[in-house]
Amino acid sequence: MNDGIYKEELDSYMQRALEFNVRKSLFICMNREDLEYTFDLQKKYPWIDIAYGYHPEDADKISEEDLVYMDEVLNDERIIAVGEIGLDYYWDKTYKNQQWSLFIRQLQIAARHNKPVLIHSRSAAQDTYDILKKYASTKVLMHCFGESAEMMREYLKLGYYIAFGGVVTFKNSITPKENATNVPLDRLMLETDCPYMTPVPFRGKTNETAYVKFVGEYIAQLRNISIEDLQKQLMENYERFFDGKN
Ligand SMILES: [Zn+2]
Repeated sequence: MNDGIYKEELDSYMQRALEFNVRKSLFICMNREDLEYTFDLQKKYPWIDIAYGYHPEDADKISEEDLVYMDEVLNDERIIAVGEIGLDYYWDKTYKNQQWSLFIRQLQIAARHNKPVLIHSRSAAQDTYDILKKYASTKVLMHCFGESAEMMREYLKLGYYIAFGGVVTFKNSITPKENATNVPLDRLMLETDCPYMTPVPFRGKTNETAYVKFVGEYIAQLRNISIEDLQKQLMENYERFFDGKN
């Protein structure tokens, strides 16, 4: 993509996010190029935060060297979380073993740096739960949560946070709506939708940061609270989750 055009568009996304009252946005970086780019971006937009991690869909491509790099770069305080990491059996189960070991290794690295983890789990509910229960020792956020109410209860028992994206607003997504209604307010997070968020979160118009506003309005309505109260609560949750203490 042409760099000039790209950056021009990005400025309008960032501007719109501010107009839409977005005060914090976490950018997920999945490789060195993303990370370098986002470090630069953060100079211009200090209200963005940065996470770094290797997505399960890249499990067959991530080398030992990549993990060594990650372990080093996490010393950088600008990176406040590890993610997205996790398991994804939706498209391909061939790399299950690699996914497992990549996931576990990254949980261990996150523990060493005492940074919270952002979990991607798709069509892999039980395995994700088992691995997290055994290996996660920092704070955990279940991103784009799409699992059952029972599963959510189990994660809540472990003290985890639950994030919802645009899916909640879709007509047919009954369970996500129920979960977004029932999750304790102090464990709720919002995000732009998962598949569009990766690897660079500002790729197409449908995924832009500003649109999290619509998810917020929808959930406020579901829960019968004001958008102002919800926003205040979300900021508190965000700060509590990413404050660096465990
Ligand atoms: Zn994801």
